Amino acid sequence: MKRLLSICLAMTLLHAGFAQSNSKKFTLVITNASIIDPATGKLAKNQLLAISGDTVKVVDDTKAASKYKADQYFDAKGKYVMPGLWDMHVHFRGGDSTIEANKALLPLFLAYGVTTVRECGGDITPSVMAWKKQTASGRLPGPRIFTSGPKLDGPGAVWAGSLPVVTPADITAALDSLQRIPSDFVKIYDSKISGNAYLGIIRQAKKRGMKVTGHMPFTVELKEAASLGMDGSEHLYYVFKACSSKEDSITTEIRNSEHTDHPIGLFGALPALFNTYDSTKAESLFKYLAAKHFSITPTLFISKTLSSIKETDHTNDSLLAYIDPKIQATYKGRVNGARRQSEAATNFTKRFQALCASLVPKMYAAGVNIVAGSDCGSSNSYIYPGSSIHEEIKLLAASGLTPAQALKTATVNGSKFFGVEAFFGSLQKGKCSDLIVLDSNPLEDIGAIDQINTVLSHGKLYSKTDLNALLASIRH
Ligand SMILES: [Zn+2]
Repeated sequence: MKRLLSICLAMTLLHAGFAQSNSKKFTLVITNASIIDPATGKLAKNQLLAISGDTVKVVDDTKAASKYKADQYFDAKGKYVMPGLWDMHVHFRGGDSTIEANKALLPLFLAYGVTTVRECGGDITPSVMAWKKQTASGRLPGPRIFTSGPKLDGPGAVWAGSLPVVTPADITAALDSLQRIPSDFVKIYDSKISGNAYLGIIRQAKKRGMKVTGHMPFTVELKEAASLGMDGSEHLYYVFKACSSKEDSITTEIRNSEHTDHPIGLFGALPALFNTYDSTKAESLFKYLAAKHFSITPTLFISKTLSSIKETDHTNDSLLAYIDPKIQATYKGRVNGARRQSEAATNFTKRFQALCASLVPKMYAAGVNIVAGSDCGSSNSYIYPGSSIHEEIKLLAASGLTPAQALKTATVNGSKFFGVEAFFGSLQKGKCSDLIVLDSNPLEDIGAIDQINTVLSHGKLYSKTDLNALLASIRH
């Protein structure tokens, strides 16, 4: 009712000949902004943004600045202003003893201009839900959080906190519990889940109107999952499998080996899939996925980092100073795993990754919704929150996307996965005001994404000094 009254009042004022902008005081007015619209790749100079809370109320020319009164003014001095970044694949996890260590990652995201994250499954969901509320209300500096809550997997899953699913009754119970949280989407993992349970989850989740993404058991074909309404796929393994001319026979072999002493599994099947990659099949698959509004998170940076972990010394990484020792301790697992890998296997992985990365511009061109995700978090060695999404954006550009397209994967496309692009993705009237200010133009050189000058998150402006103070607060 209150809202209705204020709308009526505003309309009365307009009819009475008052310019709304004259009578209204905004919380923030930004002038001299060179605004980048990632949706179109266009740049508009000398712009003014009048903002109230977390919403852009007016976009105008800076020449009209005297019309706009505000509590706070910010002169962007011609710098580049674009929507805040979305990291579509992060994790908060590691058990209750790491809750504070995970919480300390939130300002780190913000310092790198990440204003929204999609948390893809962990074991400290009650804390994540508390942070989600606290960041949304502005009480805690950090990004907006979309979370899956716990992952769904089979019994005896590798990740702690996963909900075990075998029967249809298990699926019902698991999805009921996610909706009670309430989680924002369903994340399926593939360490122990059966193909039947996997497809069953998608069927039931879609009936409930829940978004579903994740890994995929190699006993399943991606097109079948997509045909049932699966919304996305994490990493490139699963889409790559579907690009093989022998996908059907390789899948049959994997299924037949499933309950033997030597199951083939994902990594065992990769060489055969690599050798039978079929660009014509890939093209028609991508068209199909695009028609299904399917999202893919390539996670190129973590693949690259892990495949070169053996020969890279990360002990002097400056960003380690912002990672709690409890989380740093979890980085050892992947390093040890990589050391056990043979030279030949490492070399194959690198060739495989190069072919996978080459799919990105093809999928993009076909209309698949490519989203930038870093996979940062506990256990994922040296993938530093915030900085890692900059690296992902640069790799997406290096794979063949234009700078504008790469920026789109880290802004508009994230919101498309959740169907909330009416409010996010560009700095237009009525849309979210989360934004970053960059010292130089990322449309000319995508490396400019590292030059974060200022961040606006939940209506609060963080200058470079404020961002440095946030970093100092988590340094140990
Ligand atoms: Zn992950």
